[in-house]
Amino acid sequence: MPASMTPGVAAPMHDDLVFLDETPRAPTRPSRPGWRILIVDDDADVHSTTTFALAGLEVQDRPLEFLHARSAHAARAVLAQEPDIAVILLDVVMEQPDAGLQLVRHIRETLAMKDVRIILRTGQPGYTPEMEAIRDLDINDYRTKSELTRTKLYTTVAAAVRCYQQLRALVIGRAGLERIVHAGTELMRLHGARDVARSVLRQAAALLGQEAAGVLCVREAGGLRVLGAAGSALELEGLTLDAHEEAMLLGAAARALAECQSEFSPTCMALYFPGKSGRDFCAAIPLSQPVSEGNGRLLHVFASVVAVGLDNVELVGRLNTAAFFDRLTGLPNRTRLVEELDAAVAQGKAPGGTLEATLTLVDLDHFAETNDALGHQFGDALLVTVAQRLQQQLDARLTVARISGDIFAVLGMAERNTPAAIQALFAAPFSIDGQDVQVSATLGLVRLHEHDGSGADALKDADIALKRAKSQQRSGHFYFSRSMGVEIRERVRLMHALRRGVGRGELFLAYQPQVDLATHRPFGAEALLRWRLEDGTMIPPDRFIPIAEYSGLIVEIGAWVLREACAELMRLRSAGHLAFTMSVNVSQAQFRHPHFVDVLRRALRESGAPPEYIELEITESMAMEEPQQLTEMLAQVKRTGVSIAIDDFGTGFSSLSHLQRLKVDRLKIDRAFVSEITGSARGSSIAEMVIQLGRNLGLSVIAEGVEDERQAQILHALGCPLAQGYLFSRPLSPQALLEWLGTQQLENAA
Ligand code: C2E
Ligand code: CA
Ligand code: CA
Repeated sequence: MPASMTPGVAAPMHDDLVFLDETPRAPTRPSRPGWRILIVDDDADVHSTTTFALAGLEVQDRPLEFLHARSAHAARAVLAQEPDIAVILLDVVMEQPDAGLQLVRHIRETLAMKDVRIILRTGQPGYTPEMEAIRDLDINDYRTKSELTRTKLYTTVAAAVRCYQQLRALVIGRAGLERIVHAGTELMRLHGARDVARSVLRQAAALLGQEAAGVLCVREAGGLRVLGAAGSALELEGLTLDAHEEAMLLGAAARALAECQSEFSPTCMALYFPGKSGRDFCAAIPLSQPVSEGNGRLLHVFASVVAVGLDNVELVGRLNTAAFFDRLTGLPNRTRLVEELDAAVAQGKAPGGTLEATLTLVDLDHFAETNDALGHQFGDALLVTVAQRLQQQLDARLTVARISGDIFAVLGMAERNTPAAIQALFAAPFSIDGQDVQVSATLGLVRLHEHDGSGADALKDADIALKRAKSQQRSGHFYFSRSMGVEIRERVRLMHALRRGVGRGELFLAYQPQVDLATHRPFGAEALLRWRLEDGTMIPPDRFIPIAEYSGLIVEIGAWVLREACAELMRLRSAGHLAFTMSVNVSQAQFRHPHFVDVLRRALRESGAPPEYIELEITESMAMEEPQQLTEMLAQVKRTGVSIAIDDFGTGFSSLSHLQRLKVDRLKIDRAFVSEITGSARGSSIAEMVIQLGRNLGLSVIAEGVEDERQAQILHALGCPLAQGYLFSRPLSPQALLEWLGTQQLENAA
């Protein structure tokens, strides 16, 4: 018999039925929370003997508290309601022989209670659960009731409680750390100081397992400023107070801030968060129970995470000012304006929202020249003066922003935000450094109630209107109209579709034969780009090529066209058409690209196409630009061995000497002049001039767009040697071209 823990209680429990005469003491609610022990047994005596045997005992300085269930069924009900049960003393055989084990299964598997410790007891020594079940179900101990003397019962329960305590500490620690990490990320998302402060209080409360309460404050000249509050302290939020006004909370906060460290008392804690730039924070929180050692450690980690978070919030605050306001004029910037626009657009759409707002862009005329002529300092001063006048003299309810260099924006009520009202401000000169400067402005306007889309879209629309206004007349104005936007959006849509289409192989080439006008014998073809959408719709090149040029996609597309046309030439050659030339259109953006000559050389090399059978068509307008650069570029291209034709000839203003210098090989008479020649009497003049010019300069000439026999005859009569057009053939697929060439050979042979 082991030395008894309590004098006089040494006998094995089942021998101690004498104790049953005494009614077990009603469990009084202890001041320190007790360990909760659930007794499940269908034998009423076991309940009383157990509570009696363990009465008054403590584990780790905490008393035991008992809960009772008379059946497995009743135990389920208790488990569903009562939290924090540390140990279950469980009878194996109750309603059914395996009711106990089934309950264990329910606890571990259905309720997923992993921490609660379970001690099985049985009255029948022969009925032993499988070892496997004991292990799998995490059963702490298995005893026959007769084995459990009071001492043994105590040691078994105490061991189980300690085990439970460790498991809980692990679980709480893990959950606590997760909470802390979460707190850090949440702080980063929040903006206003109040939201941040309240969040800190909420997170701390969650760690402590209590309702959010207390204040988060920072020291200011007049005392402690309460940035955020919760619970009963909520009314303090936003106030600046003296520490003695709210002695428990603010007193603790003041001390923590003075001593630069957290302070814990049984009823209150003050968490100290060191901040950069001397702004330290403190959260003072009333406690519903003293902070445990484990929680104390977690709170320290929490405080350091929060300190970093608060610093970032301060930083973000400062960044916000920089991000939303223009440094020079102090006006809201573009980003800020877009936010306000979003709000204005949303408001205009709200039910019953009758607000009719306008956005006006104000572009100072000739600002760049002023800046260049008089210097940046003068330019800056001018911008500041204009900003001031806009802000001071326009209706105060309007927002004035500076959205880029010399462009201001005015947003607000349509009846105050008019071209007349704004232009009136530019009537009087601006005084800068004692000088009077007359400045004018051009305006682009959008009526927001007519606008659907985001604030950023509205700004784009206003910009489109401004560009239109500038292209018409300086110091005028232009209101955005829906059709302008539709046109532009349509182009953007097409650009995205084209980019996709390139990837999906929706582009292909068609080949239009070119013939000798005297014999009608084909001698070559022009490669023409085609785009067929997935659903079969053809988009004409006149629509998509300008977009490809504008978006830069033409560089990639053009390189592909070159490779594909060279490859087709090689296929034609292998089919026996050896004296056949291939004309390839090259657009300006493509031609100007620094790698163009490399791309060309590579296409030639990789296909094996003989350069003398490749011709590049560049437009006359291209030929006119930057003569020096172009001459050099063309010389390089010509060194590869390919020849050059000037497309759409006659539409530009090429000078003769210029043409001579460019050393082009062929002129292509634009089809507008070809269709003219059968019309009025004087119609033939331009085509005739081009033919003459070609002859004088020793250049080949081809007429394009020849649709009928009469045109062909006239051109031939005028001395044009070559032609291309629907009269001879429409653009053809590679296969159709081969067939067409075949029939031509037969006809010519006949
Ligand atoms: P372009 O270079 O002037 O091409 C001639 C255009 O006239 C082609 O239109 C052709 O189909 C059309 N055409 C030919 N014969 C006749 C005729 O008898 N009557 C009439 N009414 N039209 C005729 P398409 O194929 O629609 O090409 C339009 C423009 O697209 C081309 O004008 C060219 O500027 C551009 N383009 C086509 N393919 C390419 C390419 O691969 N690269 C580049 N950069 N531009 C290309
Ligand atoms: Ca062409
Ligand atoms: Ca043309």
